[in-house]
Amino acid sequence: MAIKKEVAATAHCVHLRSRRNFLKQIAATSLAANIPLTQIRDAFASPVKLSGVELRGSVSRHPNWIREARIYGLSVSGLKVDPIALGRDINSVIEQAGNVIEADSRLSDYLSDEEFGVELELITDAVKLFHKRGLKVVWYIPALEVITPNGRLREDSFARQHPDWLQLSFDRKRRGVFYGQRVFWVKPDDESAWMCPNSPYEDWYIDRLRKIADTGIDGIWIDVPLFGLVVASWGCACHFCREKFALQTGLDFPDRFDVSDKRFWRFVRWRHQTLKEFMDSCREAILGINPQIVSIAEVVGLDHLGATEWGTEGSNLSNHYIVWEQDGISETTAMANGSYDDWIAQYSSYKYCRGATLDKPSWAFTYGFNEADAQLVMAAAVAAQNNPYEIRVPKMTTTVGMEYRSMMYNWIAQHSKQIFLSRSLAQVAVIYSERNRDFLDAMYNGGMVISPFKKFRDRRWLGTREKSPINLEYLGDYRGLSLLLYQHQIPSDIYPMSRVNKDLLAQYPVLILPYMAMLDQAEQAMLLVAVRNGATLIVSGPEPGYWDTDGSRRATSLWGSFLGDADEDTPVSRSVGKGRVCFWPKEVGRDYLKTHSAEITMPVLSWLKQDGVVPWVRKNNNVVVQPYVYENEIIIHVLNYTWVGALKNKPRSVALELMIPWERGRGVEHVIQSEPQWDKPRILTYSEENQKLVVPLECGINSLVRIKFF
Ligand SMILES: [Zn+2]
Repeated sequence: MAIKKEVAATAHCVHLRSRRNFLKQIAATSLAANIPLTQIRDAFASPVKLSGVELRGSVSRHPNWIREARIYGLSVSGLKVDPIALGRDINSVIEQAGNVIEADSRLSDYLSDEEFGVELELITDAVKLFHKRGLKVVWYIPALEVITPNGRLREDSFARQHPDWLQLSFDRKRRGVFYGQRVFWVKPDDESAWMCPNSPYEDWYIDRLRKIADTGIDGIWIDVPLFGLVVASWGCACHFCREKFALQTGLDFPDRFDVSDKRFWRFVRWRHQTLKEFMDSCREAILGINPQIVSIAEVVGLDHLGATEWGTEGSNLSNHYIVWEQDGISETTAMANGSYDDWIAQYSSYKYCRGATLDKPSWAFTYGFNEADAQLVMAAAVAAQNNPYEIRVPKMTTTVGMEYRSMMYNWIAQHSKQIFLSRSLAQVAVIYSERNRDFLDAMYNGGMVISPFKKFRDRRWLGTREKSPINLEYLGDYRGLSLLLYQHQIPSDIYPMSRVNKDLLAQYPVLILPYMAMLDQAEQAMLLVAVRNGATLIVSGPEPGYWDTDGSRRATSLWGSFLGDADEDTPVSRSVGKGRVCFWPKEVGRDYLKTHSAEITMPVLSWLKQDGVVPWVRKNNNVVVQPYVYENEIIIHVLNYTWVGALKNKPRSVALELMIPWERGRGVEHVIQSEPQWDKPRILTYSEENQKLVVPLECGINSLVRIKFF
């Protein structure tokens, strides 16, 4: 975790079922996100028509500076802007190909009204200089944490002035305040106060947001909208929250920390809702001052139990742009000591980020330690279509290196439209359920780091045995199934259940449902529409569909009539309409995480193969491939994970053959390959083989392959 902040120095052949009415579908669909591969053929048939058609519906509504952002963290210190010093900083940003500044001043600190006024002047002056040089700027401010410098010694610290505005732990024993270095961004004598969004703090905070919105900035970056990150765990149980909970749910506030208790279950879900309401009020206030301004929520609870424990569910914050704080596995060395599984888990997490923002651009942190690991992290973020915020672990406004950042950002700038405006050609969608994460795993934490080991006495290693997804029911299955796909070069997308609709699902020949014990009837009906129209749905988990969304158990599974007498050891497949549902009533993904065995892998891959979904490389070798289409180009990201595993490992290239589903006789203008280290792209040779375009290549840390067709 790294919130803030100490200001650092500046610096098929494809799927055989035809979908000929593809273009008609696009016209009718506002949220459709992807083209399954059959549709490449339609794209070939009418590339001109396809160009400019936005499958991701409304993405085109979003300003280009957000869609193509390369974010540069910049500390703006002092009480007044020094135009010469700031001018030098701006030169650095431009030289390193940043185009959006995340500016960071003193807004993490408690400021008196007078001090805040001075800060507003500083922001106003700085913004003018940024804009003069053609840069966009978003200003950083925490949402619910207020730091009083030297607060241990001050009578007028924020918490001492407003003790009843502080968050309160679920057990009502601990208020949300501490002094000193419980976390790296709070200095020894500082006070860190965590405020309740349902207290009068909201008005105090929104009043300040309005003033910041009036300084000419392009956006406000709102961090840590969450409960109980450091203290006051599982808040908030203050009287404001208890009253609001009772009013909104008609239930008494829970008194047992137990997810099988219906009131507590409701509370778990309510926390997500109340934080969303707070963030939406912030946005409304900002837009009331300046409708052009954007609100960007920084979200640290990604597809893991941080989202459950701290309450912020990114996929809920659909009114905001999101910058995802994707952690590495260590706050000391980021991903450098990560295992192959950890790396692919991180990749799947970046895919989740993209899917959770659905029709909006997605920004993400790319923590690095050294240049090689940092490059692979950023390449993964970008391969999943997240706009990068380059940063050295663990603090904001830092860099792994100016040369490194310059190399990466310039390379991304060269391929910007192909990377960020293209549409996914993945054939498989994994449906992530944040509700089942809460339901099955809420009493635990973690779910991100697979390796439990504290390597090299790394005190900031984020994994433990208990927190590994291997030991979690929902996250184990979700994480494992995602890994299985990516580790076998099956291009896949990930979407939260709450964001999908039938038009989106219709774009995928295969849908995968990691263990959803809790399933809503309407959700099942939506999935079955896709199945009846021809999709294959793979359902995993020992008791799928046995619980209703209020936490009550059904007499029989929602899948009962389809499931028949399937037993745990035997995968079964049932025809439904033009498609089918494949059941395997065991924790398939979790078993894969534990064993990576062929016994688990083969049935899943063979279901995929029956639908024409096969690996995009000839030989499985620790690479990830992710394909997109942009106008008349197919874009394939290749990520090379063959060398990862320990900090001491040096990157080494890998030779592979891409096997791209291809319509016989379709013309290729050229195939080029580009890597960040290269001055210019290289031309690749290719051949056709059984309706595949075969492209051999050697990949360094990461490659982008662009195939221009006609
Ligand atoms: Zn509260």
